[in-house]
Amino acid sequence: MCANLTSIVRKYFSGPGSDYRFVPARSITLPPIDKTDLYIHIPFCKNMCPYCPYNKVEYDKALASRYKDALLREIEFYRERLGRIEITSVYVGGGTPTNLIDELFEIVSSLRKNFEITGELAIETTPSDISEEVVKKLSRWGFGLVSLGVQSFNEKYLELIGRNYASETLDSAIRKTLKAGFKTVNIDLMFALPGQTVEEMLADIKKAVDHGVDQITLYPLFTFPYSRTGHYLHLKKVRMPNLQLRRVMYKSMHDYLEASGFERVSVWGFRRGDPPRYSSVTRNKYIGLGAGAASYLPGVFYFNTFPPEAYIESCLDGKLPVSLKMDVSESMERFYWLYWRFYDTYIPKSQLNIKISKDLRKIRTPLEIARILGIWTQDKHTISLTERGSFWLHLAQNYFILNYIDKVWSESIKQPWPKEIKI
Ligand code: SF4
Repeated sequence: MCANLTSIVRKYFSGPGSDYRFVPARSITLPPIDKTDLYIHIPFCKNMCPYCPYNKVEYDKALASRYKDALLREIEFYRERLGRIEITSVYVGGGTPTNLIDELFEIVSSLRKNFEITGELAIETTPSDISEEVVKKLSRWGFGLVSLGVQSFNEKYLELIGRNYASETLDSAIRKTLKAGFKTVNIDLMFALPGQTVEEMLADIKKAVDHGVDQITLYPLFTFPYSRTGHYLHLKKVRMPNLQLRRVMYKSMHDYLEASGFERVSVWGFRRGDPPRYSSVTRNKYIGLGAGAASYLPGVFYFNTFPPEAYIESCLDGKLPVSLKMDVSESMERFYWLYWRFYDTYIPKSQLNIKISKDLRKIRTPLEIARILGIWTQDKHTISLTERGSFWLHLAQNYFILNYIDKVWSESIKQPWPKEIKI
């Protein structure tokens, strides 16, 4: 039923002719742009967490070195095609990007040589990879925003989800990262873990708050059918928290963090004070570099090939490593824009009027129904998502990730150059 509903909503907003279909694409014509955000994927990990759906392989020094060479080639491909464009932000994700800490210097230097970087550099890492030397290097390479994938401070859940560190490692990693003086330090925590109580979730959040981090991102455990946790939980018949408990958890985290001086900055993120916001999604336009990275430019959304070996081979062979693309109609772009602005939890009315002017009549009734249901409120200048609205959007986001992303990722992980995928 959910699938049908989502399909109806997508068709209603983006038009009946809009086709959500990825087709094979070994070459691509890039639209002219003068600026973009940039994502770089580093797919290497030393610990393969069973719940993890991301595109990654076990760290191997020789493979990582060739991967860095391929990334440097891909940077040049874009420079040759787009010129020295402005890069408004850089986000390095993975995998565990700090596994390539020294190679990152070459990658960032190449970005600076080929593009005009005007925005912040952000990177995610895992606590077991943090040392004084690593944080010093990150700072020296120019990273201002750092996110630590803590997931939980509770040994029971760290073991359940297969993280390879003890809770003391976490405290020391967080202290070292905070001491290095980054503009923003974010901690990722999971909730809705199997068997987790509201009190246990709040105890995790309290620890993060007490450490004095700037931002906390809380997201539920996604049990992707193709991840090992999906199978593991299924086999063990482990019960995930039901909808009612998730609702209580979501409200409790919101109330606790607000009382602790944080404000909601996205469906899953809370920030204290006014440091630059750490965010991996909600970008308007971006180019993704690396194995499995996605790019979204005017009129087109595309993915690079997922297996690192295929990615390296393609780049070192002088070919863009693009494997799949989807044409994006103007109405799909507007739908996408609206979705991510709600994900940000607020929309300036001036922007809404400009971006969605063609659809204002179409969205007026659904928006009004959502307002009556308490999904959003407004003042003179802004539309804001309520706590209730955030909960429902977080469920929609959860559904979107599990059903649409799962389909594209699982196919792409199985074969480097997949055939058509319809979502
Ligand atoms: S959760 Fe992070 S550290 Fe664990 S396998 Fe996935 S990317 Fe690697």
